[in-house]
Amino acid sequence: MDALTGGTVVDADGVRSADVGIEDGRIVAVGAVDSPDEERDVSGQVIVPGLVDAHVHLMLDGRPDTATVTSESAALLSYRAAAALSEALDAGVTTVRDLGARDRIALEAARAVDEGVLDGPRVVAAGRAVVMTGGHGHQFGREADGPAEVRKAAREQLKAGAGVLKCMATGGVLTEGADTGGVELTTDEIRELTAAASAAGVPTAAHAHAAEGIDNAVRAGISSIEHGTYMDGAAAERMADTGTVWVPTASALHGIVDNGVDAGIPAEAVEKAEAALDAYDDAWDHALAHGVRIAMGTDAGTPFNHHGRAALDELAYMHEYGLSLEDVLRAATVDGAALLGLDDVGLIREGYVADLLVLDGDPLDDVDAWRELEHVIRDGRIVR
Ligand SMILES: [Zn+2]
Repeated sequence: MDALTGGTVVDADGVRSADVGIEDGRIVAVGAVDSPDEERDVSGQVIVPGLVDAHVHLMLDGRPDTATVTSESAALLSYRAAAALSEALDAGVTTVRDLGARDRIALEAARAVDEGVLDGPRVVAAGRAVVMTGGHGHQFGREADGPAEVRKAAREQLKAGAGVLKCMATGGVLTEGADTGGVELTTDEIRELTAAASAAGVPTAAHAHAAEGIDNAVRAGISSIEHGTYMDGAAAERMADTGTVWVPTASALHGIVDNGVDAGIPAEAVEKAEAALDAYDDAWDHALAHGVRIAMGTDAGTPFNHHGRAALDELAYMHEYGLSLEDVLRAATVDGAALLGLDDVGLIREGYVADLLVLDGDPLDDVDAWRELEHVIRDGRIVR
């Protein structure tokens, strides 16, 4: 057994002084570890679970105009995904959920990491997002109209190995001509997606900005609402009642608004993001007031939202919008893992996977302590 000794363990279970024993990629002891084979002294440092980013796009690289990706080959986009994996891991992200890629890019990224071809975070991938014809993300999505087509599209992703199903319940910021608030897939259509997912035992995610689209997806039994920028009190209440998780992706909106047209982002996208950001404070207020469950997700890959930084920025945004440091830790570790259906990730407990970070600061004192990253341990191996 190897061990990290002398450090302070911090996770959603609390704070304690403990050594952490690691064997075959798993945590096998939390407490005093006697005579380990190999020992790393982390006295004065803090051991936390690796970060779980519940919303990324591995094939996107943070370029200002996402539409230019359509002219690139699947081969080039796969190399971009490989670079994204390495950047995310280097920033302390040990699990990602890819919510939409072209072809089989994200699904094969999951396999490449599993087989040890690439060093990277564990990948849970949706394959292609299910979208209405001409709707948000149609350039890369699987277009489907009507319950029967959505059922077929959902089952295609499952057959290809998807670990989550993603759909678009409203328009989006980055698709030209799509109204951010406009309803896209209907409740009846989304119900087919959640039914297919539930038969396969995988979670579901809906991109939804406006309250009506959020409501449609929640009534269809969706596991998480992505973005949710125009969430109102009624939508927040329904989400809290049903246990639907919110993935806020603050870094996506800020990446667009803070850089703007001068940086090359299409004017229409900037306008829509600015309008969304105006409503976003209220969305947070409603979510916090009703106690909506939150998981950390960045939408990394969207404009100026780079894989090597997105999660660290998102943690700071979540705290700025009112989440306590304890809740930020929880949203970015065990609650994110639970949303992904992973029951052995996100805590420092015996039997859990040894995805760990060693920090120089305490993230329960200061949200920026997540940036003071000394080591990244993935599956029991020090990768940084
Ligand atoms: Zn996205």
